[in-house]
Order: sequence, then structure tokens, then C-alpha cells
Amino acid sequence: MKIRNCLNPSKPSFSFEFFPPKTDAGVASLLRTVEELAPLEPGFVSVTYGAGGSTRDRTVELVTHIKQHTGIEAMAHLTCVGHTRDELRDVLRRLDAAGIENVLLLRGDPPQGQTTFEPVPGGFRYAEELVRFVREEDFNFCIGGACYPEGHVETASREDDLKHLKAKVDAGMDFVVTQLFFDNAFYFDFVERARRVGINVPIVPGIMPITNYEQVQRFTRMCGATVPMRLALQMERVKDQPDAVVQLGVAHATVQCMELLSRGVPGIHFYTLNKSPATRMIVGALKGRS
Ligand code: FAD
Repeated sequence: MKIRNCLNPSKPSFSFEFFPPKTDAGVASLLRTVEELAPLEPGFVSVTYGAGGSTRDRTVELVTHIKQHTGIEAMAHLTCVGHTRDELRDVLRRLDAAGIENVLLLRGDPPQGQTTFEPVPGGFRYAEELVRFVREEDFNFCIGGACYPEGHVETASREDDLKHLKAKVDAGMDFVVTQLFFDNAFYFDFVERARRVGINVPIVPGIMPITNYEQVQRFTRMCGATVPMRLALQMERVKDQPDAVVQLGVAHATVQCMELLSRGVPGIHFYTLNKSPATRMIVGALKGRS
């Protein structure tokens, strides 16, 4: 199934993102998480692509396994980092041969210790080039990509970022998924600005329930997302009580999702960090099952 066909504001779908674990025990634990989340009937799940090393093969293996063994539609992420176009073609062919129909195409972050992204010789500098490549190579993938309601960390201005997003979408993207955000105002403003410049594909909000405040502070420092002052103060007060952090994180994300759904989003993508409880509580509540 092509994901673009399940992104529908009149029947929004929930989707879950995982990362490929480094160990076999981690893989077994992730597959248990997928099983625990399956009863929530996700529209699709996705598996990220590592910065390098062995987990990259695991992305292909995991999406293949999930699709074949659970019947849940599984999307592979793929980045330009460290790959020539021949290597990227090879990964895409493996995905295609395994029956994977959806890919999330990204540039990726600069390797650790580098501040600017340098492509390898024969590789790509921007996600837009990878999208164009996949379209020219005549693959039949449904293509997703990333977008940034608060602006990408490297961009000079949100306007520039939006201009680049428009070019990336025009190169052949079917939908985009947002970077995590904790204040829906960023999302609604972004969608309005995107529509004004002619970006018409579905814009799926990405939500990360806070379950560990230090971890979220690390993520937000890296990706530039803002934690609203009130939420930050509440988190500070309970940061030494793990259960209270989860309760607060789940409550905040649930309220975010309820508002997003009431205003007609095409779906909600959850950054699960390979754990099921928080996402289960939120989606359970949204589906009236809790
Ligand atoms: P691009 O769209 O190429 O943009 C990168 C920067 O370049 C932006 O600042 C943009 O404004 C600028 N730019 C784009 N085109 C041009 C141009 N023509 N001229 C000048 N500037 C330009 N990372 C991983 O490593 N693996 C993953 O699996 C992964 N999954 C992700 C999933 C989602 C939903 C999101 C939101 C992010 C994900 N990331 C992942 C992180 C992502 O790789 C980084 O945010 C990365 O820094 C940018 O990737 P991109 O595809 O958005 O890049």
C-alpha cells in the first residue's frame, strides 16, 4: 500500500517510528514493541536509517520482516550520508525486491565533529537530489521526506527553508513528516505558510511523548525544537520522579494530538524511541480505548 493513500483528514492514520537497534537483543525487543503496538492498527510504521555502520542493513531487514510477518505497511528511511548514487541505487533495489513500497528520503546530518554537510564524491548534497534520482531511476516508490515547522537547524531563515522544501516536494515527494514539536502553534503556522507557497502534499505532524526529560533536552538542543516554558517548568518540578515525567509527557502529547485531530491533520506520526507504553496510552486514549 502506498502511504499517500492512507493520509486522509477524514480518516487520519497513526504511524510509529522506530530506529534499528545495534544488537540482536535490541531487535528482539523492538519486534515485541511492534507486536504490542499492532492492535492500535497503525496506518504504517517506519524504521530510521543510521548514521553509518551495521544498523543500516538492519533498516532493510526490519522493514522487510515487519511487512512480511505482521502485514503492517513498513517504510524505510534512507539518507545520503556516506553513500554514492550507486550504493543508494543498490539499497533501493533491495527494498524494491523485498516488496517495500514507501521510502522516506533524507539528506542526513553531518557526521559527528563536522558542522557542514559534505557529500561523498558521487553522492548527493541535498535530499532534493536524492528524490530526483529516485524518480529518474524509474522506481515506483511512494516518497516521503522531512520538514521543520520551526526551521531546520542549519537554515538562515524559515523562508529559505520553506523555499528548499518546495523544491524538494516538487522533485517528486508525495508527503512530508514534521520534526517533533511541543507547541501546535508552530505546526499550524507552518502548514499555512507551506500552503501559501504552493506546497500541497499532506504534512504529517511528528509527535514525541516525553518519557525522559534529560533525553528530550538533548534532542531539542540538536534539532532546535522549542519546549514551551510552562511544560519545561512542570518537567523541572518532577524531573526526579520518572513516573510523573511519563504522566506529564503523555498528558501533554495527548492534548496536542486531540487538537491536531480536531483541526483536520492527515495522520499523526509518533517518535516511539522503540518503546510502546507511552504511545499505547496516547493512541488508546485518542481511540477511546483507555
Ligand atoms: P534537506 O531537505 O536536504 O535540507 C537540509 C538543509 O539544507 C536545510 O537547512 C535546507 O533548508 C537546506 N537546503 C535544502 N536544499 C537546499 C538548496 N538547494 N540550497 C541551499 N540549501 C538547501 N536522520 C537520519 O540520519 N536518519 C533518519 O532516518 C532520519 N529520519 C528523519 C525523519 C524525520 C521525519 C525528520 C524530520 C528527520 C529525520 N532525520 C533522520 C534527520 C535529518 O536527516 C536531518 O534533519 C538533516 O539535517 C536534514 O535532512 P533533510 O532530508 O531534511 O535535508
